[in-house]
Amino acid sequence: MAYVIPKDLQVMAAKGALFIVADGMGGHAAGEVASEIAVDTVSNAYYQDDSDDVATSLLQAIRRANAAIHQRAAENMLRSGMGTTCVAAVLRGNMAYIANVGDSRAYLVRNGQAKQISQDHSWVYEQVRAGLLTEDQARTHAQRNVITRCLGTQAEVEIDVFPEQLEDGDSLVLCTDGLSGLVGDDELRKIVEQFVPQESVYHLVERANENGGPDNITAIVVHVQEVGVEPPNIRHPVRVGGREVGEDTKVLGLLPSSQGTLSARNGEVRSSTTVPLHISSGPLASPGTAIAPQLAAEESSSKRNRL
Ligand code: CA
Repeated sequence: MAYVIPKDLQVMAAKGALFIVADGMGGHAAGEVASEIAVDTVSNAYYQDDSDDVATSLLQAIRRANAAIHQRAAENMLRSGMGTTCVAAVLRGNMAYIANVGDSRAYLVRNGQAKQISQDHSWVYEQVRAGLLTEDQARTHAQRNVITRCLGTQAEVEIDVFPEQLEDGDSLVLCTDGLSGLVGDDELRKIVEQFVPQESVYHLVERANENGGPDNITAIVVHVQEVGVEPPNIRHPVRVGGREVGEDTKVLGLLPSSQGTLSARNGEVRSSTTVPLHISSGPLASPGTAIAPQLAAEESSSKRNRL
């Protein structure tokens, strides 16, 4: 997994923050190489592309990752057939753009409901969509590990992108099947609603382990405290009037005239708390910062059960 919350406010306004989870396959060593290439390539290529069209940029970055993994697999016989799933989310202003290949998932938790945004590219979920299996049957089916699309095994890959309008209080969960296969939507929702993002990840992994936990688990939880605005003309530099923004406080889509801002915080430091506007100090903003931290971002936890 990886996430990028740009420190540069103009980069943040133009490109947003990126979160990505990848679950490698093709033998343990090769799978780890594939997932690492995926997260590195996507997070670098996305920000190197100076287009402000998030969806196009994200697709292009994932295509690059596919090509890079495919090439590496071709160079080394031991890695032939290696591949990885990939689920990535870019949050900018009031929008989230979620892209996926394979069966790692993105969920949106909003108003007491957890909705899966991504669509699994797996054999069992093709059967579910065709009405031939139920969700419960898919969860326990012997063929549940068979995925129908992934990065790296083919020269070209088809990628799905789901634009989603954000609302205040939304949470996004990106995770591998090690979590989604063992923790139901409702269990997931309850945990994400009850705890701050960093603690949610811990409890989600715990729950998956309590429910059997046979697989590696990687998850990212992102909480949006207050959505921002989509910049109307982000090709022009965005002036922020000399405000100082703390290391762990980021602003997405902040415009001089805008009331609504979306800022993000790396959950590594401490769990999020609500901080009023115009605070002069506090854990989430440096002195003099008049920007409320609106997006409490996540931390991820990865657990490895090697079998
Ligand atoms: Ca897995």
